Amino acid sequence: METTAAFRGLTCTACGAETDSTADRCPDCGGVLVGDYDVPELTPAALPDTTGPGRYEPLRPFPHDATVTLGEGATPLVPVPDLAEELGVDAVYVKDEGRNPTASLGDRKLSLSVTAATQRGTERVVTPSTGNGAQASAAYAARAGVESKGFVPSRCPFLNKAMVNVHGGDMRVVEGRYDDAVAAFDEELAEAADGWVPVAPGHPFRIEGAKSVAFETADDLDWAVPDAVVHPTGHGETVVGLERGFQTAADSGLTESVPRIYAAQPDSAAAIADAAREGDDEPATVEHPDTIVGPLEVPDPAAGTAALDSLERSGGGGVAVPDKDILAGAVDGCEMGPETGATGGTAIAGARALADDGAFDGDDVVVLVNPVAGSKEADLLRSHLMSQGI
Ligand SMILES: [Zn+2]
Repeated sequence: METTAAFRGLTCTACGAETDSTADRCPDCGGVLVGDYDVPELTPAALPDTTGPGRYEPLRPFPHDATVTLGEGATPLVPVPDLAEELGVDAVYVKDEGRNPTASLGDRKLSLSVTAATQRGTERVVTPSTGNGAQASAAYAARAGVESKGFVPSRCPFLNKAMVNVHGGDMRVVEGRYDDAVAAFDEELAEAADGWVPVAPGHPFRIEGAKSVAFETADDLDWAVPDAVVHPTGHGETVVGLERGFQTAADSGLTESVPRIYAAQPDSAAAIADAAREGDDEPATVEHPDTIVGPLEVPDPAAGTAALDSLERSGGGGVAVPDKDILAGAVDGCEMGPETGATGGTAIAGARALADDGAFDGDDVVVLVNPVAGSKEADLLRSHLMSQGI
C-alpha cells in the first residue's frame, strides 16, 4: 500500500493486536481496528497550505494525491448564537457535514475506505447501509473506476436508492429493516468471488476518514478545542474517529486536549447511549429499533464497544432522546442555523437534554455535528409540520 510516513498499520481497539492494512476487523478477536501512527510533531505553519482533509496529510494514512477524493471536507463550522443562549453556554457551532459531495459525513469515510480497497486491487466494493453510506460508496467507487454494491433495507429513502443507480452502483433492496440488509450482505459476501472488498460500517479506514472532522474543527477554532462535541450516532465509528482524531492532534502538539464527546441517539435505537449511561463496556443489541431517524436505526452498532471506550476516555457519555424532540430540534435548527434534518436534529435534541442534565458549563464551547444535509430528509420534516397542522 502507498501510505504516509506516519502510518504504521492497524491496531485492534479491543486486544491491541497489530495487523496489516488489508484486514477489516481484528483477525484475533474480531475487534474494531484503527490506524497506528508515529505521530509527528507539528505546528500549524508546517501543515500543507490547503483546505479539506489534504491539509492534515501528515496525520492521515494515505498521501492526498493517492486518495480517491471528490473534494469532501472543508465543511463550515457555523456559529449558532441563539442556541448558545438557550443552552446557557459560551458558544455553539454546527459542523455542517451536509455540505459534502453526496451531502453526508459518509463521504470522508468512503473516500479512505475506497482508497484502501483500490490499493488492494478490488473489483467491487460492497457495504450494507441505511442509505447514505450506499450512496457515498457508489459515488467514490465510480470515481475510482471500480464497481459497487449496496445492501439497503426497503425503508431506505428513494433519494439514496436513486443516486446509487445514477452513480452506476449495483444495489439490493432487502425487505425489512437494516439488520435484514446486513444479513443479506453477509450471505452474499460469503459466497462472493475474490475481488469483492467490504467497506462496511466499522471498517478501519472509515474511522480514519472520520478523524478529519476533528482536525478541521480544531483548525477552524485556531487550534483551540471545543469543550464538548455532540454527535448523532448510529454505528459509533465517527465517535471513535472524533476521539482519536482530537487525541492525534494533541499528540502532534497542534492542540492540548480532547473535548468531551457525547453520542446522541433516538431513544428507541440507543444501543451506545444506553450502555454509556449504564456504564456498560458493550452495547446490548436493540431488539426492535423503531425511530423516524432512518440513518440512526442501527440495532447492533458495528463499532459500539470501541465507541464506548472513546466516550469514556473523552469524559463524555451518551444521551437518548425521543423522536418528537428530535423533530422539534431539526425544525428549530433550521430556524437558528444551517439546515438540519432528523439526523442533525438528534444532536440539537441531545444537546438540550444534556444542558437540562447540567452537562455544560456557562463558558463551554459546544460543537454539534450535522452528519446529513437537512434537505435529504425534507419529507420527514414536512410530515412532522403537517401533523401539527402547519
Ligand atoms: Zn483484537
